[in-house]
Amino acid sequence: MYLAEYRQEVTRLKGVGPATASRLRHLGITAVKDLVRHYPREYQDRRRRDPLAEAGSKERSNLVVEIRSKQWLGRGYKKLLRVKVGDPTGEAFLVCFGRGFLDQQLVEGREYWVSGKFRSRFGKLECSNFEIEEAGAASSSFGRIVPVYSLTEGLSQQNMRRLVARALEAVAPRLEEELPLDLKQRHNLLAKAAALTSIHGPESLTELEQARHTLIYEELLTYLLLLEKSLLARKSRTRIRKAAGPGGALKTALLQRLGFRLTPEQSRVLAEIEADLAAPVPAARLLQGDVGSGKTLVALLAALTVIEAGEQVAFLVPTELLARQHAETAARLLEPLGVRLGFLSGKTREAGRTHLIRALEQGEIDLLIGTHALYSEDIRYQNLGLVIVDEQHRFGVRQRERLVAKGSRPDLLMMTATPIPRTLALSVFGDLDLSEIRDLPAGRRPVITHLTVEGNEAKVYERVRRELKKGRQAYFVYPLIEDSPALDLKNAESMYRRLRSEIFADFRLALIHSRVNPEQQREIMTDFARGKVDILVATSVMEVGVDIPNATCIVIEHAERFGLSNLHQLRGRVGRGSEQSYAFLIYSRELTEEGVKRLRVIKEVNDGFAISEEDLSIRGPGEFLGVRQSGFLQLGLADLVRDQSLFMVARRDARSILKGDPNLSLPEHRGLAEVLAAGGEER
Ligand code: ADP
Ligand code: MG
Repeated sequence: MYLAEYRQEVTRLKGVGPATASRLRHLGITAVKDLVRHYPREYQDRRRRDPLAEAGSKERSNLVVEIRSKQWLGRGYKKLLRVKVGDPTGEAFLVCFGRGFLDQQLVEGREYWVSGKFRSRFGKLECSNFEIEEAGAASSSFGRIVPVYSLTEGLSQQNMRRLVARALEAVAPRLEEELPLDLKQRHNLLAKAAALTSIHGPESLTELEQARHTLIYEELLTYLLLLEKSLLARKSRTRIRKAAGPGGALKTALLQRLGFRLTPEQSRVLAEIEADLAAPVPAARLLQGDVGSGKTLVALLAALTVIEAGEQVAFLVPTELLARQHAETAARLLEPLGVRLGFLSGKTREAGRTHLIRALEQGEIDLLIGTHALYSEDIRYQNLGLVIVDEQHRFGVRQRERLVAKGSRPDLLMMTATPIPRTLALSVFGDLDLSEIRDLPAGRRPVITHLTVEGNEAKVYERVRRELKKGRQAYFVYPLIEDSPALDLKNAESMYRRLRSEIFADFRLALIHSRVNPEQQREIMTDFARGKVDILVATSVMEVGVDIPNATCIVIEHAERFGLSNLHQLRGRVGRGSEQSYAFLIYSRELTEEGVKRLRVIKEVNDGFAISEEDLSIRGPGEFLGVRQSGFLQLGLADLVRDQSLFMVARRDARSILKGDPNLSLPEHRGLAEVLAAGGEER
């Protein structure tokens, strides 16, 4: 890790030009280390070789075939290459959509490895979604356990495997150990370089398990060192806050302006937070409440108390989209009260940013709402009294501590709509206070949820059409942004095209995902909120917080690819108005009995607390090929729930390290100190 090359830009790697670098950036990969830590999302075992004759009945086949002949079909932009391949047991066709370049690469009479899903069409075996490589030489994609990565447009699995391999080659031989030797020995950990090499290309399942054990322990230890350090720091501070004005004039004014009353639980929780704010010790509180329970409002009310005492509030939000929405809500509710608002995101232009920074320093902004930009280096607050973190599980300890460090002793209020049981929260977050909103505002009707097996989409689409005709709006959610050769799934881009041209041609559709630029995202969301768009096709960027009451339908395709808590969050996008709302979960034909049972939980249970408990209890130990995780409470590879026992071990180690060496200044802790300084957990 001390290695400078590790932190260098990916363009320093051989063969990585600006085009590849820009594609990698879409995945959040800028440095060599990011590439090395772009862990596979799953693995495929391609050690065995299947007979072509049986390919039609298999989910995925790994073959060695000979190219028999090639043929161009159609004309113009519809021209299509079709390649006939065979092995001693049979023949099949490879259909090369948009991959005409294969004509040059594939030589008749030579043998190739092919991996893909074959289907029988008109009595002939055919495959259009495949990986192919000349057989023979050692390959990172065939004849072994093969990693499958999250991709982005313009990068194939094979490209990604080569890129990761190149990054590993460049740094692995000289990587130094970050962990003290005694811990490595005690816990039977692999050398850092070996662990990284194996996680990206294990020779065996045992080796993979060891690599995972090593990297997970390392992540947990780093996480816990950060957490324990921040707790120690908090305990050592005290402060005094000026009392808010008599009775909290701002708060009273806001409550009067609302067209409704707080629910009993909102009032109770607000009182708990206000007690924190009045206490001499800075508080750290986690507010858990189901989707739509009105946490934002509670947070804004708490902010008013602090603002009235003459201090500033920072409201940290995970996405640009949600930050904008919160800023708009705050503008509507608080500006009339004279509260001075600021908005800051990574996209705020230079001029506006400079102006805002000055205003913030001079105490001319009371409430600053924004994304990770809130804790950038150059942002200084005059008097930061309260840090609010929405959807806190989207942030790491270090990120929120960076924001907290910008005030002298601010209170910390974290919110989540993915509740976890109290005991777990305490173990995962350490010494926190917990508040829960257990009710929903009156008049909400529970969303009606339907499960539909793939193949019956037409009925669902018809049902959605009926709602649209009544003037309602709908979301369509897909697990991927675009086509991925390794995963045979519907994706947002191609379904957007299909829905728009074939199925809902008479309605207005828009597409949104993390790669649509934020400016455009905002326009699309505004259009959707104003009813200028009927159907929003999206990936799970939609998951967090968006609040549009006229949207009454959500269709989630490949629902089995989402965690239960994610599904519940997604479903929470509807049912926000007074109309009856519907969620349609479409699942794969190949889903196991167990998988269907999981989805049935969502259908039958509407309470987020119950669902997250179910989500937590269903998971067994990591399944190898799927490397299943809970979808929340995740670090990189580590899952704070699944890996509880290792978590406990790592916490004991972290405490004992800090006890003997609180500032990590001993030589054997130099590696750890560097990791923490360089960012620690990577999220
Ligand atoms: P959460 O962040 O907890 O998912 P939100 O803060 O987005 O929920 O609130 C959902 C919606 O409910 C918002 O439109 C908000 O104005 C509204 N709301 C909040 N509290 C109440 C209440 N007590 N009565 C009626 N509506 C409320
Ligand atoms: Mg919210």
